[in-house]
Amino acid sequence: GGCFFQPADNFNDKLLGGLLASGLDEAACVSRYTSFLYRKISPHKPSSYLISRLRSYEDLHKRCGPNTLSYNKALEQLKSGNKRGSTDCNYIVWISFSGLGNRILSLASTFLYALLTNRVLLVDQGKDMVDLFCEPFPDKSWLLPRNFPLIDQFDKFHQNSPYCHGNMLKNNVINSSAKSIPSYLYLHLVHDYGDHDKLFFCDGDQSFLEKVPWLIMKTDNYFVPSLVLIPSFEKELFKLFPEKETIFHHIGRYLFHPSNQVWGLITRYYRIYLAKADERIGIQIRIFDTRRGPFKHVMDQILACTLKEKLLPAVDMQDSVVNPSENAKLKAVLVTSLLSGYSEDLSNMYWEHPTMTGEVIGVFQPSHEEFQQTEKEMHNRKAWAEMYLLSLTDALVTSAWSTFGYVAQGLGGLRPWILYKTENDTTPDPPCGRAMSMEPCFHAPPFYDCKAKKGIDTGILVPHVRHCEDISWGLKVV
Ligand code: GDP
Repeated sequence: GGCFFQPADNFNDKLLGGLLASGLDEAACVSRYTSFLYRKISPHKPSSYLISRLRSYEDLHKRCGPNTLSYNKALEQLKSGNKRGSTDCNYIVWISFSGLGNRILSLASTFLYALLTNRVLLVDQGKDMVDLFCEPFPDKSWLLPRNFPLIDQFDKFHQNSPYCHGNMLKNNVINSSAKSIPSYLYLHLVHDYGDHDKLFFCDGDQSFLEKVPWLIMKTDNYFVPSLVLIPSFEKELFKLFPEKETIFHHIGRYLFHPSNQVWGLITRYYRIYLAKADERIGIQIRIFDTRRGPFKHVMDQILACTLKEKLLPAVDMQDSVVNPSENAKLKAVLVTSLLSGYSEDLSNMYWEHPTMTGEVIGVFQPSHEEFQQTEKEMHNRKAWAEMYLLSLTDALVTSAWSTFGYVAQGLGGLRPWILYKTENDTTPDPPCGRAMSMEPCFHAPPFYDCKAKKGIDTGILVPHVRHCEDISWGLKVV
């Protein structure tokens, strides 16, 4: 039979079911409208309400984005100190902070918060945001202009900064019914935040924050699960996402388009090593240990998990299966890890011995960077490319605690098998377990009942916000 070209159903394929706006410059961001060629169509459709809210956000961003009249007016107000008169546009500035996986999750959370509160999201360029991601919105940039007045203070902003929301609450400089409204507030939502910072997640404080024209946020967390627990947001959130576990899946696919350089890394690798396989398995290995690996108990864990869950076949040590048939299935295993040892062992095993099923297994690892080097450009490009490549697999194994893995599972719409954290150098039993949902885990949620003003287990309040599989005190949407 001949090969014929089938025209794409633009709305459903290229625009990801209407999630993406049409008409942005295709050459400036090749990935935006061609990513669909590398993925199965997501079975999770964005709701028409989400689509309409995204289009109206884009209009807002166009009207209020950098260097517009409204932006300049808001800047004047920021410089003058207190809030006077009404503001046209309110803003939330996201400070670039922490590892790349953490950044992607925190930025997605911040955008969702912007959607819920009708704020304009502006992104601190940090070192390499431009190098890694395309502009997500039409016409106006999401980057905070480099001459933004407070930009030199971003690194110094901390829990005890004078304009820190939690700090001001602690010192009674503001309370939720205060009359004088500051022109800006710094929100400290980093994992080390304190009880007063955590009041961000209370309805009363949200109605105060609503009046502040500029919010500047530093966070390294996926704080969406606790937004869901704010009564005034909950209904809207589930109108946007009737399929509850698809929040990051849609927001991530909407916001994060690899830059052309990163797209080159992704597509070259995919075409050479993954495209021809009948099935693709991703294994993300991230071990939080002060010693250098590789460790035998981790290798044993990977083998035990993939075998038990039938993701990979056993090998025949007697070499009795001599001739794999010509049409034996080809499975490609994409391993990501800072170290090369695990994939070398896996690769050797499948080269030296036939599999019991007759399948042939290829093992590929794009890089082994040895240690985290967040300040380096090419290092971050590779990290982003690898998260994205993992998201293109058919089945995914991730490591407990890792935001790198959360990004991959969310973008891919995959419910991964999580390799549980090892203790005392022993392989856990069971070695891994299936995640309840594809949503990322919020590692540092508050445990506070805003109404009763006392501690509470926020992981048992509603059926769709639970404690995470990999971190017992974390929260995730299921
Ligand atoms: P987390 O620490 O696992 O939650 O993920 P982050 O992405 O926030 O931080 C880890 C950082 O270490 C990444 O951003 C990379 O810079 C680096 N890193 C960790 N694992 C890998 C890997 O498998 N491949 C590459 N290229 N980099 C990695």
